[in-house]
Amino acid sequence: MPFNWPRLRGREISSGGLILAVAVFIAIVANGRFYSAALSALGSSPWLWPFHLSLFCSLVALLVLILSAVCHRALVKPVLIAFLLISAVVSYFAIAYGTVVDEEMIANALQTDGAEAGDLVSPTMLTWIGLVGVLPAFAVWRAKLFFPDWRTETVSRLKLAGAALAVLAGSVVAFSGHYAGLLRFHGEVTNEAVPTYALLSAIRLAAKSAPKSKHQHIELGTDAALPPGDRDHELIIMVVGETLRADHFGLNGYARDTTPQLRSRNVVNFPDFWSCGTATAISVPCMFSNLGRAKFNTTTAATLDNALDVLARAGVSVLWRDNNSSSKGVADRVTYQDFRKPPLNPMCEDGECRDEGMLAGLQDWINAQQGDMLIVLHQMGNHGPAYYKRYPKAFEKFTPICSTSDLGSCTAEELNNTYDNAVLYTDHFLSKVIDLLRANDHNYETAMFYVSDHGESLGEHGLYLHGAPYVFAPDTQKHVPAVMWLGQGIKEDVVMSSVADRSRRPWSHDNVFSTLLGFFEVTTVAYDPKLDILERTHVETSFQN
Ligand SMILES: [Zn+2]
Repeated sequence: MPFNWPRLRGREISSGGLILAVAVFIAIVANGRFYSAALSALGSSPWLWPFHLSLFCSLVALLVLILSAVCHRALVKPVLIAFLLISAVVSYFAIAYGTVVDEEMIANALQTDGAEAGDLVSPTMLTWIGLVGVLPAFAVWRAKLFFPDWRTETVSRLKLAGAALAVLAGSVVAFSGHYAGLLRFHGEVTNEAVPTYALLSAIRLAAKSAPKSKHQHIELGTDAALPPGDRDHELIIMVVGETLRADHFGLNGYARDTTPQLRSRNVVNFPDFWSCGTATAISVPCMFSNLGRAKFNTTTAATLDNALDVLARAGVSVLWRDNNSSSKGVADRVTYQDFRKPPLNPMCEDGECRDEGMLAGLQDWINAQQGDMLIVLHQMGNHGPAYYKRYPKAFEKFTPICSTSDLGSCTAEELNNTYDNAVLYTDHFLSKVIDLLRANDHNYETAMFYVSDHGESLGEHGLYLHGAPYVFAPDTQKHVPAVMWLGQGIKEDVVMSSVADRSRRPWSHDNVFSTLLGFFEVTTVAYDPKLDILERTHVETSFQN
């Protein structure tokens, strides 16, 4: 029986023909990074060329198989158009920033606001998506499809899928050794295939976040209590940083002094601090949870109390001010204030609100509380790719800068200059936080704890931004700056030489939960002294009467 696909009848095309055309187009145009990843993983010697060619055939066959399964009748055009647009977006991120669209990145994208998304838009992005996505999608929309009767259509689709399966099986059998090696030792290469890996990640994410049999919220540290008879109330400010990498932090020995103001305020620096994730959506809930990186996942964390919940239950007044995208669920049960727009944030211009604006009216809030306080300030920090928007002009010390989101069009020097100017602004912001605490030091035991949520890639090995899968992510995305500033009252409670010694040890977001509880000397089974960065440096004074 002869195939009746793909076939053109006059200017009409069969749906099978259209599926094949779209699969070939995506395999050729959107998958440059996939082939180059395979070439660098396995080598490019001439005797491997047939294998690399087979990769192309396998990818086309795989795309045809997927499309055959979901394209039928009225669904053909919408599915193909969606496939083309998704492929264009995913391949743009792969080419422009070297990023792989995985579960973390999709989760992060879903929680991104308009301003963050707007930062990513550049002429190059619009051109790429226009040429690789919109234009072919328009051609698909205009194509004249002919549909034979239902039965013939189904048989023809089964033949198409069968042929694709045969090509895929043939390729794998013919080069079984190479495919086994690729999957076993270079599995990350398959993550570059567009759009299959992004689709797989989206399905996995949807499966994870599908409502399960009603999960009860689990309370933690229900025994949490503040030390009895404690006359000195704590005022602690935790600053959650954004996208600042450790090696661009002056206090960590960076060639440029990007932290002159912090240096003059005698902070305790933690040069060996590591993040829980490589994206805000993971790191922020992770650092406040007591799960630790090994056990952390966003679904479990969302059903569990975090450090803020435990402290609030013990009687601490907790306030979260946000100039980022959100608290990622961490502040759902405490006071939350959105500082991403005026008038709450008085320091906004051209749609960009400054981190310093989060300090507006903060003294009034402090004055209105009684007892212990924890204030969390969630920064915009060094959020990319529009680093040039992240600081006022007065902080443009390093020039020339990269004044576009199209990072690939800037030199490494411009990129580093722009990023470092934003670090200077964070240095300034943190110093203002310290000054506010200093002004309150006679009434409270004060401290600031700053840690960034994750680092950033600045073009090394063709990688930009962050969000790489943790095991493959370069250290620049995971090694983060962290500092503490301790007021006089807390300094009298701890042995400073011991703090200095402990600051040089390796720490991570896993230590934030118990360190926060430790500041308030909260007693609860949820507190693990071994994880408290300041543990054993406390002088036993709290139970003396
Ligand atoms: Zn982040």
